[in-house]
Amino acid sequence: MLIYEPRGRAREYAALACNVYSGCDHRCTYCYAPSATRKTRDSFSIPSLRSDFLRKLKKEAKQHWLNRTNERILLSFTCDPYQHIDVKEQVTRQALEILKARNLRVEILTKGGFRALRDIDLLTADDAFACSLTLLDDEQSLEWEPGAALPKERIYALHHFHEAGIPTWASLEPVIDPAVSLQIIRETHTFVDLFKVGKLNYHPLASTINWRKFAHDAVELLESLNCKYYIKRDLACYLPDAALIPNHTTAAMLGPHSPAQSQHPHSAGQVARRQLSLFPTL
Ligand code: SF4
Repeated sequence: MLIYEPRGRAREYAALACNVYSGCDHRCTYCYAPSATRKTRDSFSIPSLRSDFLRKLKKEAKQHWLNRTNERILLSFTCDPYQHIDVKEQVTRQALEILKARNLRVEILTKGGFRALRDIDLLTADDAFACSLTLLDDEQSLEWEPGAALPKERIYALHHFHEAGIPTWASLEPVIDPAVSLQIIRETHTFVDLFKVGKLNYHPLASTINWRKFAHDAVELLESLNCKYYIKRDLACYLPDAALIPNHTTAAMLGPHSPAQSQHPHSAGQVARRQLSLFPTL
């Protein structure tokens, strides 16, 4: 199946997903996808076309249309839809055309920056556009994510999609430097409709970060800016009332543009309740 239900931690981000390419040339140093796809890092970093992808996608899109699928289909988890290979191949654009022709909802998750702007005409207010924002400094970004677009390009793309009326979200994961992640929220919250906040996993740096403090600081900041947010379970367990968070597995719901909802209590003991009240599961 090309359109599939993600499992594990990915399931928190999307109910359905589709990987447009095999492999990814962004070469992020923390990328889990090589092991998830049983490839070496070197072979994973040389992307290739998936066999008969567009014909098979047409067939699956028709089935989802018949099934009246309403969940957004996320492009992509184990590759970036706007990695460099897509400039020439344009498989992402063709995939979007196929899905939209069947009235299916999509969401893009990318570090491709300006490259994503090419397809802005295909998305509507029913869809969503998202970027992973990890750092603000160009040199650090090139060190951690050497093939990806620089942070300012990604932020520009988010701003541009938001201005076009397309709901936006930012994935703050992995968190490499908590202070930088908090600064990203401050700099982008006026055009990012939803923040999904995680942590850093499977990396030696992770054990040097005070996650309890970061979880508290992030929630406090997001509350103070009246932002919509979703704290991933691996970070939410550091919040005081994490036990109130049910074992939900679907992604946070992102609607069309709307101001943050009603006023909510600000005490640390209430933050998980606010998070849940804003993001009922699909
Ligand atoms: S953009 Fe995503 S899939 Fe591509 S290398 Fe980076 S983390 Fe992996």
